[in-house]
Order: sequence, then C-alpha cells, then structure tokens
Amino acid sequence: MCGIVGYVGKSNAYDILVKGLHRLEYRGYDSAGVAMVNDSGKLNVYKTLGKVSNLENFCSDKDKSGCTGIAHTRWATHGEPSDCNAHPHFSEDGEIALVHNGTIENYKVLKDALIQNGCTFQSETDTEVLVQLIEYIRTHNDCSLLDAVREALRQVVGAYAIAVIEKNNPDTIIAARKSSPLVIGIGEGEMFLASDATPIVEYTKNVVYVKDNEIAVISRNEPLKLMNLDNEETKIDVKTLEISISQLEKGGYPHFMLKEIFEQPNTLRDCIRGRVVENGNRIIISGVQDSKEKFLNAKRIIIVACGTSWHASLIGKYLIQDMCRIPVEVEYASEFRYSSPVIDDRDVVIAVSQSGETADTLAAIQMAREAGAYVYGISNVVGSSIPRNTDSGTYIHVGPEIGVASTKAFTGQVMVLTLVALAIAELKGTMTAEQIAEIGSTLKKIPDYVAETLKLNDQIERLSLIYTYAHNFLYLGRGYSYPVAMEGALKLKEISYIHAEGYPAAEMKHGPIALIDAEMPTVIIAPNDHLYEKIVNNVQQVKARHGSVIAIVTEGDKEIRNIADHVIEVPAVPECLTPIITSIPLQLLSYYIAINKGKNVDMPRNLAKSVTVE
Ligand code: GLU
Repeated sequence: MCGIVGYVGKSNAYDILVKGLHRLEYRGYDSAGVAMVNDSGKLNVYKTLGKVSNLENFCSDKDKSGCTGIAHTRWATHGEPSDCNAHPHFSEDGEIALVHNGTIENYKVLKDALIQNGCTFQSETDTEVLVQLIEYIRTHNDCSLLDAVREALRQVVGAYAIAVIEKNNPDTIIAARKSSPLVIGIGEGEMFLASDATPIVEYTKNVVYVKDNEIAVISRNEPLKLMNLDNEETKIDVKTLEISISQLEKGGYPHFMLKEIFEQPNTLRDCIRGRVVENGNRIIISGVQDSKEKFLNAKRIIIVACGTSWHASLIGKYLIQDMCRIPVEVEYASEFRYSSPVIDDRDVVIAVSQSGETADTLAAIQMAREAGAYVYGISNVVGSSIPRNTDSGTYIHVGPEIGVASTKAFTGQVMVLTLVALAIAELKGTMTAEQIAEIGSTLKKIPDYVAETLKLNDQIERLSLIYTYAHNFLYLGRGYSYPVAMEGALKLKEISYIHAEGYPAAEMKHGPIALIDAEMPTVIIAPNDHLYEKIVNNVQQVKARHGSVIAIVTEGDKEIRNIADHVIEVPAVPECLTPIITSIPLQLLSYYIAINKGKNVDMPRNLAKSVTVE
C-alpha cells in the first residue's frame, strides 16, 4: 500500500503534495512525509508518525519553499510506524530523497553489502536500502541520478513505485514502477505523479499509466520521457481521466463510508447501464461475449480474490453454478499462488479486485496465464493493473471508493458477477430466455430496491445503540446469504474492532454454538429463499441458548419475526439477487456501531484500502 505523490512545476509543491496525500490517505496512514527542493538547491525533508494532519502541524513553522517535491503516506511493511521509518528516506550525503510504495524483497542482502562498504542506516525499512544503493552507485560510477536509479533497479527484487529527487536539480523527478501503481499527470508547465489519479484530477485530465519496468523522467520544462531498464525509450500513451472532483469529496456526509453506502442506488445504476437492455431481456457483457469460445469450453472457473472481493466471489460461485452449470472454485489469491494449483488451458480464471492492484491477485493472474488459462478481470479502477494484465474483463463502474471498508464496490462486484453469470448462461443455453428476462427485469429495479432498503437507516441507527458494547458477534446465513454473513462480520471487525465471525448457519452446530450466551448477539440473514425453513431452525437454536437475534428478513416475514429479538425487513427479490439487498443493513449496522464507539470509520487502524504488498 502506501500512497506516493510528486509535483514539479511553477507552483509551491508543498500545498499540492499535502492535498494529494489527503486523497491517498485511504492507502495508509501510519506516517506521512514530504521532501521539497527549492531553487537555491536546498532539500528539506519533513516526516512524522501518524496521519497527514500531523505532518501539516509539524510543518507549520518550517521552510516549505520549492516547486519540486515528493510525498508519502505509509502503511508499514518493514519497520514499525515511527518518525524515523517514515518516508521520504534520504541518502547519507543528504543529496537524494526517495518515496516508495511496495517491498524490496532482497533488501537484506543489499543492506549487508552496503554496510560492508561503509554505509550507515537510519531506519529499519527496506526502502532506505534503495536510496542508499542509488547514492552508492551514483558516487562510485560518477553517473547521473537517472543512471544510478536504473542501475539500482536492476539489482532490486520486489515491488515498487518510487519517486526520487536530488538537491541540485530542482527541475526533475525520476520515477519508476514494478507491480505497484503509478500515474503521471501532464499539465501546462507542470507535471504530477501519484499512486492513483485522485491527487491529479483537479489539475489535469491527461494522464499516463506507467507500466512495469518503466522509468519516467518528469521535468518542469521538458516533455515526459519514459524508458525501460535497458535505457530504451518507450511509447507514451496519454489517457483522459473520467473521474471528477465531486466524486472524491464527502458531499455533505460525515464520512466517505456513509456517502458510499448511500450512493449505492446510483452506483448500481451506473454498473448496469448499457448492460441490461431491452427491458431486461438481454444482458450485454462484451468481455464475455467477445470470449464466447473460452466460456463455452470452460471445464471449470476459478475465482481468485482477497478480502471483501473474496466474499463477492463466493456469491459469484453460487451464481455461476446455479445459472451456468460450470463448476466454480473460489480461492484466496494469496493461498492460490502458493498451493501449486493445477490449472490448464480449459480453465477460466476470474480475478476480482476493487483497486485492480491487489498484489496477490496480480500474482495469481500471472500464474494462471503462464499455465495457459484464460483470465478475466473484474475491477473498479480504470486503467489499473488487473485490466491491463488480463485477457478480458468488466469494470464495475461504481466510481472512486475512498472509505477503507468496502461497500459500494462489494455490491458492484456482486452485480457484475450476476451479469457475467447471466451472459454465460445465455451463451450456454443453461437458462431459458424467460428465466433470463425474469432476472434481467428485476435487475433494472435493483437500484430502487436498494434505495428502499436505505430507508432502514434510522431503524438500524437505533438498533446499533443496543449492541455497541458487545464484545463478539456471530453472523449466520445459508446459501447466497452465507457469503453475506461473512461480509457483514468483516465490516464490523474492520471498523469497530469488535470480534465477529461469519459462518454458514448449519455449521454453527459444529463449534460456534458453544460461544452463544446472553452476551453474544447473532445476526441472521434469512430472506425468504429455498433454505428459509432451515434457517428458522437455526434461529430457534440460538434462542434456545439465550442468544439475542437480529434477523434480516424479507418484508412480510411471518415466522422469524415471532422468534427473533429484532427483525429488519428488506424488499423481496429473486433468491440470486438477495445478497445485494441484504448486505445493505449490515453495512449500516457496522457503520453505526463503529460511530457509537467513536472510531474513525474511514481510516480504521492498521488497515489500508488497497493491498499492493504481499
Ligand atoms: N516497504 C515500505 C515500508 O515499509 C513501503 C510499504 C508499502 O508500500 O506498503 O516503508
């Protein structure tokens, strides 16, 4: 994770850098730092533990001059969060400053060699090794910063997006990437760089997504230059950004998370736009239709993902198996890549990630492609690594998600997986036109049903007060509601720090039932589906052990309302679409419990939004 920002131009760099760091703070907030070089050749580096606001306080009385600078907000991988481990790191001679997103895997070997050559280190990070190595190469080979960076990167194993500046050159930033994201913004007489486009969009819409193993020379007066590690110039492909500033602001809500929860009717409308057509009779997912043969011949689909995307993927498994009759396996990308997976060219691998930059998911994609599988990507961030490294795919189009706890991206992923399943079913003929039309026509109404469900906000806010101080929660569901239970538990853990477990309801009897007592609330997701009668039994089992039950049920429910302590009634939809609806009250419940506890829901401790490190 971590966010990096850079600026070179005519304006004061500090203000642009700090604003950029605020936009990237969702990526990590263990510490923050800036380095600016001014026209008198002074390199000032300021860094401090904690959030970007701490850095601003720290810098209030400092010299912030300079129209060239780099900045960082950290999510620590090597070395605890501290002032000294914060980026930018600088060379021993104080000439070079560097920010880094990623991990240097061979940092130990490099560090030992540098120490033997007389280098001393200030921090415990892998990153500092890189800046000391650059300095070492530059002084020993008497070469330019660019040559030293290129040579250092040839020796490095790992993932990086870096930005480097030097004291005596206020005109240039050298940047490079491998496996961690990096975007360059091209303005008039100024250039920007960042881990994603959010710090750039208010200055320019013209961006270049740097590719793996490319080095960029970003200058105030010269056009952008890109080259590979062999010093050969590479093509510059300028793209136009589609995001707007308003999408990056809270729009009157107290938190991004609440804004994003309430945006869901619109984000789902955007997600299905142009994809559910002819009154729901036809589903158009060009990625699927263009890879028709691959899906028709697939002997198996493997979905790889992490975190919330993994929960969406589990729902995808139920959808694809139900609708397309293709066996589906869902794997944590981090386990899949090290489990010597047996894959061949009749497998289709679907990779799901909001950011499109999840390191383990990218590694799983590479492995699958090397084994000959066809790889389909589902992501939100346009131009991110997943769409660039897959054979085909679909964007969820829910707009930038800033809150660390994923909400609208989850429902967007479930929606896209539903559309993908329907499109495959249409190709394979595993569903009749009438069946597709029935689901398709309801899909068009899903944004309205979600809006209806959001009216439960006040009821859920009141309910949250009763359970704010519980120490543990159990979330149960069956079938399509089982991944919803896991996602509900994850939401609560992430932002309120209450221990919660999501379980298949029937599995409760094999362990978690032992935990149930009057102190342990159980949230049961029990829409009116083909497993309803079974889950009624599970509600009884919890009540028989004096546990309190909050049940998410379909409106008009008769049985569970008589047994559960609280019922939350959601609109009726076909079974395969229930996850999009039933997950909404769970998002609100976790939000309000965390707020009641005074937690920072947008920036929960220890977490960062996109996990771009292993
Ligand atoms: N490895 C670097 C550090 O710990 C950067 C971490 C990251 O990008 O998440 O400081």
